[in-house]
Amino acid sequence: MRKLLHILRRESAGSAPYWEDFLYESQDEAATVATALQSIGAENRVDSGSGAFRPVAWESSCLQRRCGACAMVINSHPAMACDTRLRDLAGERVTLEPLGKFPVVEDLIVDRTVMMENLKRLSVWLSEKADPGAEDMAFEASRCLQCGLCLEVCPNFAPGLGFGGMAAMNPIARLIANSPQQMRKSLAKNYMRGVYSGCGKSLACRDICPAEIDMEKLLARSNAAAVWGRWKAAVGSRDQGHID
Ligand code: SF4
Repeated sequence: MRKLLHILRRESAGSAPYWEDFLYESQDEAATVATALQSIGAENRVDSGSGAFRPVAWESSCLQRRCGACAMVINSHPAMACDTRLRDLAGERVTLEPLGKFPVVEDLIVDRTVMMENLKRLSVWLSEKADPGAEDMAFEASRCLQCGLCLEVCPNFAPGLGFGGMAAMNPIARLIANSPQQMRKSLAKNYMRGVYSGCGKSLACRDICPAEIDMEKLLARSNAAAVWGRWKAAVGSRDQGHID
């Protein structure tokens, strides 16, 4: 297999972007974009006249589609490097760019602090994974990797607008399902503010999510729990099946 990695690079935040090409050749038919990024070095660089060699900066951790660290834009498609096999990419040239909704730190590394800031602002945080035997909505939501790919394709998300996207919806949905009644009331309020009011239901997030979370079902159930429950409270219902 022979692939030309065409990588959009930046030395640091705010510095001028430039493209650089690296040649990757391997007999490994299972090689992924992550495999190629791990192996390329100065000797693979196709002469681009860009001066002294600087290793390509990118983030990775588990390399098993479980952490979300290696999210990037591959051939114009947001995806995880560890989950993208080179043999599945048509043609010899593979274009790699950093996610476009976040500030670039260096090369393919972006600053996803806004995702954590959104969770803090909405009083939501992740603790341990839910028990698979527990409430199914909570378990489904707990599978979120916080990779940010859903935000990359969301037409309504931009840092600083207040809408947290599905990356914020999942932790809230999980907590709404698992929390005591009193806590659910404030979570529902945050859900309305940070998710429900900004979501246009395009469901681009459902199609891109590497964890294959059933976003449509989760969104519908969370909307029902938060919105319907608050309405019931407003009209004085004592229905214990909803938030009141
Ligand atoms: S919902 Fe899916 S795409 Fe969005 S952050 Fe979680 S794992 Fe990533």
